[in-house]
Amino acid sequence: MQVKTAPDEIQAYLIDASNMPGGHAEKLFVPETADEVAEILRAANQNSTPVTISGARTGTVGGAIPFGGYVISLERLNKIKSIDRGSRAAVVEAGVILQDLQRLVESEGLFYPPDPTEWSCQIGGTIATNASGARSFKYGATRGFVKRLGVVLADGDTATIRRGEIISENGFLEVKTDTGRVIRAKLPTYPQPDVRKNTSGYISGESVDAIDLFIGSEGTLGVIVEAELELFTKPESFFSGIVFFADEHDLLDFVAAVRDASFANRQFPNPQSRIRNPVGASLIEYFDDRALKFISEKFPDVPADAAGAIFFEQETTSENEDELLSAWNEFLERHNADVEHSWFTTTDADREKLREFRHALPVTVNERIVRNKQKKVGTDMAVPDRNFASFLRFYKEKLTASGLEYVIFGHIGDNHLHANMIPKNDEEATIARHLYGRFIAQSIMLGGTISAEHGIGKHKSKYLYVQYGERYVNEMAELKRAFDPKGILGRGNLFDFGF
Ligand SMILES: Cc1cc2nc3c(=O)[nH]c(=O)nc-3n(C[C@H](O)[C@H](O)[C@H](O)COP(=O)(O)OP(=O)(O)OC[C@H]3O[C@@H](n4cnc5c(N)ncnc54)[C@H](O)[C@@H]3O)c2cc1C
Repeated sequence: MQVKTAPDEIQAYLIDASNMPGGHAEKLFVPETADEVAEILRAANQNSTPVTISGARTGTVGGAIPFGGYVISLERLNKIKSIDRGSRAAVVEAGVILQDLQRLVESEGLFYPPDPTEWSCQIGGTIATNASGARSFKYGATRGFVKRLGVVLADGDTATIRRGEIISENGFLEVKTDTGRVIRAKLPTYPQPDVRKNTSGYISGESVDAIDLFIGSEGTLGVIVEAELELFTKPESFFSGIVFFADEHDLLDFVAAVRDASFANRQFPNPQSRIRNPVGASLIEYFDDRALKFISEKFPDVPADAAGAIFFEQETTSENEDELLSAWNEFLERHNADVEHSWFTTTDADREKLREFRHALPVTVNERIVRNKQKKVGTDMAVPDRNFASFLRFYKEKLTASGLEYVIFGHIGDNHLHANMIPKNDEEATIARHLYGRFIAQSIMLGGTISAEHGIGKHKSKYLYVQYGERYVNEMAELKRAFDPKGILGRGNLFDFGF
């Protein structure tokens, strides 16, 4: 195991994609086995030394940034232990890079759907944040793919948690560690918001599986060292496109039509029982007019007068491809898409280019933010279907009136857009932060969530109070204490420092 203390060796572990300043740590540990992770935690727990868990640090909310104590980097726990085609399962260590797993899985004719747009993240990081992304529209977040977890707890004890084995009863979960100790934890009682994606705080509910408590716990309950993941059979082929619209109403009507058809066909997959048409998108992503202009320097083929664009993907087979292509065509024509200037493909190589276009947007925003020497102010809220159009209007009205540079893009299929404000100076940064607070309030008022996929981390801990109120944040803190009585893990994540 490597242990580093020299500031220049630790420096890269003090930042993540949030660009949050002030990170510092005494020591960086780079363990190679789960036993070494346990050894570090045993010592840290005895001394009450805070421990921050570091994945690939692509998180956007400062979750992996340490403010004192030790950092444990999982980068050397990076073995793909097995990929079993028969049971369609992969066993991986936490530090495996998502893209490496996806490539290997695909070479076996299989498919691991979680796709948080940033493919350099680690599997452990995606589980700790319950990452989701474009394809979550069809497949849901990472949670749905995790069958088993190996976890090292705050005091160095370990636990193996299999899906379906430990379910809460009367609001309590009882987790047995590998040494036979039983941790009894009371679950929070807040109702989950009425949205399809939510990463605001610990899971709650009537019947909670212990594995789901660790998924999305943002490094506050234990270190995930190993995971068994469910795989799917790789879809035969894809039809995908980036479609431009001159009128935003047409674009929004198109999205509603695609979303309704996709949900209806998921509910009634048998062609005889289909109620509309066979369209079934696996992803529906949005770019507003400003996002298109922002990125047109890198992609000059973007039509100059587009009011917005939609990136979609449809899985196809040789039997249904013709039927599906004509169904999409019908939708596109009915909603006045600018088909002539849009981009369509059925090849893997061109599909990669479309995905790169989608990926390039947040990356370019981050580059600009760094160049402006400012912190990113980006929203991650989702609202119920019925309130999406009004929330988008609210975003645009307030942002346009503010005079800030901004782009809006993201997972429109799940009513979950990122409004990224790009302040040029400190004064604009203050305006952006005020606006962010207004968006939080509006989202909560509309029954939404303050974080649909990026998590709370250190950036948004104060807003958890706004979403849930003190009583429920106290319930979360009580649950954390059951697993980490000294509060050493992920200090500052979810809860304010000193909570
Ligand atoms: C350009 C860009 C686009 C993005 N798009 C999306 C998107 O569409 N959807 C989405 O969900 N996210 C997105 N993200 C955010 C990010 O990629 C995800 O949050 C990712 O899952 C984090 O993985 P990581 O390995 O980088 O974790 P880190 O950033 O290193 O850590 C994230 C959190 O998880 C904890 N953690 C990490 N590893 C472990 C472990 N083994 N055990 C316990 N806790 C751990 C850390 O302490 C921290 O709190 C994007 C990021 C970028 C830069």
